[in-house]
Amino acid sequence: MPDIRILDSHVADLIAAGEVVERPASVVKELMENAIDAGAAKLTVEIQNGGMTLIRVADDGCGIPADQLERAFVRHATSKLRTEYDLEAIGTLGFRGEALAAIAAVSRVRVASRTADADLGAVLKLEGGIAGAVEEVGCPLGTEMEVRDLFFNTPARLKFMKKDAAEGAAVFGMVQRIALAHPEVSVKFVRDGKQELLTPGDGQLQSAVYAVMGREFALGFLPVRGSGEDMTVTGFATLPTCCKGSRNYQHFFVNGRYIKSRTMTAAVEEAYANRKMVGKFPGCVIHLQTGLNRVDVNVHPAKTEVKFVDERQVFSAVYHAVMAALDGEKQHPAAVVDKPKPHDTVTPNQIKFNATPIPKAEPKLTSTSLPLHDFTAPKAPPVQKPAAPASVRTAAPVSVTWTPPAEKPAPKAEPAPMAKAEPAPVKVAPAVEVREEAEQQPWKITGELFDTYIIVQQGERALLIDKHAAHERMNFDRLKAEDYEPMVQQLLTPAVFTPAAQERQVLAENLTLLARFGFEVEEFGSDALIVRQAPFDVGAEDVVNTLTEIAAGLLTTGRADPSAARDHLLHTMACKAAIKGGWKSGPQELERVAKAVMDGSVKYCPHGRPVAIELTRKDLEKQFKRA
Ligand code: ADP
Ligand code: MG
Repeated sequence: MPDIRILDSHVADLIAAGEVVERPASVVKELMENAIDAGAAKLTVEIQNGGMTLIRVADDGCGIPADQLERAFVRHATSKLRTEYDLEAIGTLGFRGEALAAIAAVSRVRVASRTADADLGAVLKLEGGIAGAVEEVGCPLGTEMEVRDLFFNTPARLKFMKKDAAEGAAVFGMVQRIALAHPEVSVKFVRDGKQELLTPGDGQLQSAVYAVMGREFALGFLPVRGSGEDMTVTGFATLPTCCKGSRNYQHFFVNGRYIKSRTMTAAVEEAYANRKMVGKFPGCVIHLQTGLNRVDVNVHPAKTEVKFVDERQVFSAVYHAVMAALDGEKQHPAAVVDKPKPHDTVTPNQIKFNATPIPKAEPKLTSTSLPLHDFTAPKAPPVQKPAAPASVRTAAPVSVTWTPPAEKPAPKAEPAPMAKAEPAPVKVAPAVEVREEAEQQPWKITGELFDTYIIVQQGERALLIDKHAAHERMNFDRLKAEDYEPMVQQLLTPAVFTPAAQERQVLAENLTLLARFGFEVEEFGSDALIVRQAPFDVGAEDVVNTLTEIAAGLLTTGRADPSAARDHLLHTMACKAAIKGGWKSGPQELERVAKAVMDGSVKYCPHGRPVAIELTRKDLEKQFKRA
């Protein structure tokens, strides 16, 4: 017969500690959250050796009364919940009352704390959960928790710790996320005596983003704002051109709590579908505020996973807020010329272009104020025209480099094909109100470079438009439209081809989809396919190649997911049907492409590359040392 016993509290604490206290970063998280729950305005986190030898978190919050200091370390001791009903609407970061007990069980803790009504503070030391005596001590208002020698009494756990540098990095990541979660708290982080972060704590998310993610990164952000029934979404998301190689730059918060959420991740990424390069991920800092009873935070001991009452509603709120930010992004994804640094010697044929996140991550920007560099602003109210400060614009990450052929001296350069492009000024967006029209600058095509880049002049600036990228986008949007009806061509001689087995199979699985876009394909014998009809957009000689590319696309990601399959097909067709760089284009063609870019309907190619880069007269004057 097994002898069933109740675990003694020390063993229970050790078990609980395993869940709550995984590594130094989890200790830091709990201590910071306690400080924030205590109303701290300033919070300092200090670690040594990745937090393995020392973690110190000091706050200026409400403090713990001397007579309750010991109780705070008892398991299930909390000041934040009283009844089961409180669990339905948790407004504090902590509530389980187990963090301090768990931390103390596996380390040496010293806590000093003073409340506003006490002249002297109290200090308590605990070792492996065993508390000493509470003593009086002089200390500032608030609480200072010191955790030393984490896992000193649990060698099995100690073995799992990574190198100090890795643990320290995890701590730093945690501190950064909490700083982003609470812009109203000034967070300082000191690692091995060196200060690595200080957020101003001015309540502005943008300030926290600046401090945490760096100015350069922040400049590539668009403000996100949206609200729906019961929820508001605020934050920032990267311009499609500034997407990252991993998801490490995605941060989600619900009611001030950092969380991992598949729903929110999916919502953000869905909003970028067809706007970013394949394999790139948007970065974001997204805060969702919702009713406390709309979300259950009590599903995971570390409280990083939550359950929403209505996941679909969350998806929709986040998706639409990010979509609106991206769609409303009037500022052109054009690039700007890199300003020479004072010590740089810049030769005219080494002009660098930046992919342009001209800053608009201005928290004061409301929906009624216009972003900088607005070409068309179809529905926008009076334009504010602050000039983008030069220093800010140059901070954008370099992603496009253009080096004109060095050998060719300017006078010998090919004559600009003026004749090709009608130089007559064209008014943009004639439908806008008269007042706005005054703000519109006429633009004209002044030439084309390398049969690839359309040169557009507008006021004091010039744009180089990549005609293929822009046209590809136009095609993509056209194909994607709900009411798209393909124009088709019957092939005079049906094309019979034998793709690789896998390709054949995936095409055969998607015959209906192909038919929807104008391809009439049938299986032909055991290993071939026959094409009798193809969309007009695809040249007859290109039909087989196009289908092979579509097959490759479908094989990569499109297979399981019908909408991804469709997008893949659209990408291939849009590209195939687009005018190519290096091709000669007639004036109307150039005009049509330029117009789509200038009236803002085309911003990125379907792979997220910019369709235009910008050069201002001022930039040129600087480069030529005229200014
Ligand atoms: P929980 O946060 O879930 O309540 P903890 O074990 O983290 O549980 O903390 C226990 C209690 O100790 C808290 O409810 C709070 O009353 C008190 N406490 C912990 N840290 C602080 C702090 N930095 N300032 C003021 N009170 C604190
Ligand atoms: Mg807590």
